[in-house]
Amino acid sequence: MKVLDLRCAHDHRFEGWFASEEEAQSQISRDLVQCPVCGDHAVTRLPSAPRLNLSGATAREGKARPAPPAATPVTLQALYMKAVKQVLAQTEDVGDRFAEEARRMHYDEAPERGIRGSASPEEVQALAEEGIETFPLVVPDALKQTAH
Ligand SMILES: [Zn+2]
Repeated sequence: MKVLDLRCAHDHRFEGWFASEEEAQSQISRDLVQCPVCGDHAVTRLPSAPRLNLSGATAREGKARPAPPAATPVTLQALYMKAVKQVLAQTEDVGDRFAEEARRMHYDEAPERGIRGSASPEEVQALAEEGIETFPLVVPDALKQTAH
């Protein structure tokens, strides 16, 4: 089985599975291959290395494709930093009074707002039992200095 990277005239990229290299050439040249997105028959092969759909075979092909950018740890970390920054910007730092403040808000003794602070595992557990949800947030060291 051959798996080829194909592209239609509208730049949709998709995979084509063929019995063999010859079969692939034959089907493409006779316009038998159709784009799954728009139905276009003007399909061309992408220059990437064809690969066998056997696990382990791809590593030996030589032309390994780069990983999609969204999956790299650096990008995920950047996204996380951004999310944490947003949380820091939109919440009030109540420090050690976190459990107390969360409880006061829950029982309408304090205005409802976003708060952050520190709480022991016991406090978090106690809050959960009272129906008060909290979210653990790990703040990277790089952001801690600018948080105050
Ligand atoms: Zn298409």
